[in-house]
Amino acid sequence: MIIIESVAEMQQFARQRRGEIALVPTMGYLHEGHASLMVEARKRAKTVVVSIFVNPTQFGVNEDLDSYPRDFERDRKVASAAGVDVIFAPKAADMYPAGYQSYLNVEGLTTELCGASRPGHFRGVTTVVAKLFNIVMPSVALFGKKDFQQLAVIRRMVQDFNFDVEIVGMPIVREADGLALSSRNARLDPEQRRQALCLSRSIAAAREAFRGGERAVAVLRQKALALIEAESAAELDYLEFRDQDTLLPLQIADERTLLALAVRVGPVRLIDNCVLGEE
Ligand code: AMP
Repeated sequence: MIIIESVAEMQQFARQRRGEIALVPTMGYLHEGHASLMVEARKRAKTVVVSIFVNPTQFGVNEDLDSYPRDFERDRKVASAAGVDVIFAPKAADMYPAGYQSYLNVEGLTTELCGASRPGHFRGVTTVVAKLFNIVMPSVALFGKKDFQQLAVIRRMVQDFNFDVEIVGMPIVREADGLALSSRNARLDPEQRRQALCLSRSIAAAREAFRGGERAVAVLRQKALALIEAESAAELDYLEFRDQDTLLPLQIADERTLLALAVRVGPVRLIDNCVLGEE
């Protein structure tokens, strides 16, 4: 496995391997969720590149850019164990040098859900992912459904801007007790970690009611919400039932309905989701 820090060097490498590269974009502090993307990437291309970059343009002014967990040595081991060929870990000053002034923005989809609570977030995400596509030149790029809206926004960007890359969405990897893996989980103390289970439990409650035949979103939402409200450290950002393609609100749920939620637990904002009809 090789480590590349320079953008120019990464691009030089990518030119030689063009057509055989799978990219897994990450912000590091790698866990089993990231590893599942790397393992799938390994099956889909001869060369697997993992980018590790805590992208400043996707963090708002009062968000956790400075406290975002980082551990390059650990990341190196996780990536190596997953069979990664290249870690691309650029410096912010190389990605956004003095004079930088170009951004890519997907409209519509980015005004909903996380886009509503994190203005500018997706503009930063699409900008950095577009840059990574131009630098790493992947034929395929893998993203987790944990960030369901991000995946939808990136698919839209790829279609609208004719990026020549296949986008693969991968299932959410969870802890044994249901908590979706996230680098941010490392910042929860034991009591907050316990209370963070309310996200997956609230999803389970809504699914159970859905499986029992309930279709009214108002009723499903109330059942899911009760689990969040029961935890003292949990502060709801949103809990929404949406069309999984447009991300627009629904009154009546069906098998394809997305349940997405964001909840602040202590110092971190956690997200989770499910499609009601999927396992
Ligand atoms: P991040 O480092 O949080 O930006 O995540 C990098 C990629 O890993 C994104 O495509 C995420 O959706 C994906 N990812 C993060 N957590 C999980 C998880 N628990 N299961 C599956 N994919 C994940």
